Amino acid sequence: MPELPEVETTVRRLRPEIVGRTITGVRLDWSRHTPTPAELRSLLPGRTVVGMARRGKYLVLDLEPAGRTLLIHLGMSGRLLTAAPDADPDKYAHTVLSMDNGRQLRFSDARKFGRLYLLADPRTVLGRLGPEPLSDAFSAGWLTEQLARRRRAIKPLIMEQSFIAGIGNIYADEALHRAGLEPRRPANSLAPAEADALHGGIQAVLAEAIEHGGTSLDWVYPGGKMQMRLRVYGRTGRPCLACGSSIERIVLGQRSTHFCPCCQR
Ligand SMILES: [Zn+2]
Repeated sequence: MPELPEVETTVRRLRPEIVGRTITGVRLDWSRHTPTPAELRSLLPGRTVVGMARRGKYLVLDLEPAGRTLLIHLGMSGRLLTAAPDADPDKYAHTVLSMDNGRQLRFSDARKFGRLYLLADPRTVLGRLGPEPLSDAFSAGWLTEQLARRRRAIKPLIMEQSFIAGIGNIYADEALHRAGLEPRRPANSLAPAEADALHGGIQAVLAEAIEHGGTSLDWVYPGGKMQMRLRVYGRTGRPCLACGSSIERIVLGQRSTHFCPCCQR
């Protein structure tokens, strides 16, 4: 599933080609977007993309005229790419926007958990998100204070998008290993120095993953190099790169969770 670094990499890759382009046509054979397909077909053509950014795991495209925002959530298996209309037919491209440079913006999504939202006010969706983990709003002091108020296990808590935006299963496991924290620890059991370490671990692993183009574990998100640098995720039974102990796998909050029983206390 694409997380913050994969979405950020996608935005950086597409921004030079998409910003300034006007949408000329829409093809949709998928109905669970917002608003309805008929409304999207009438509202999108003629609008120009004037900005492209990321918030949490959402791609945010600012459109003019009339100040609409197109949000794209890639879900479990979504990919966003540009292509010539006659290039590589893709049976999973359920949503295709034609652009005034003759190319297409394709939203390809085999498992169909992805969503597109065309909104007058993006806060109706983005307003539910917690702070951006690489912004000033996410400070060590803020995190320490928030953790002290919550009893939930630390790993599922940092994956809650309303708590911190953008972290999923891979980077939660990796951040906790970097911080030396056992994923089942109740949030309010962390000492201030441990909360500091978690803050540092989250920021370090996300920055490293963006630098390396995100994690490519299957065909869903190609091109990243971060999978070569993961320390615990997907390494069950293999030696911890820090201490040599076997990496363990448990299920926590219905998600597979990888950690080093020696380094993470
Ligand atoms: Zn270890």
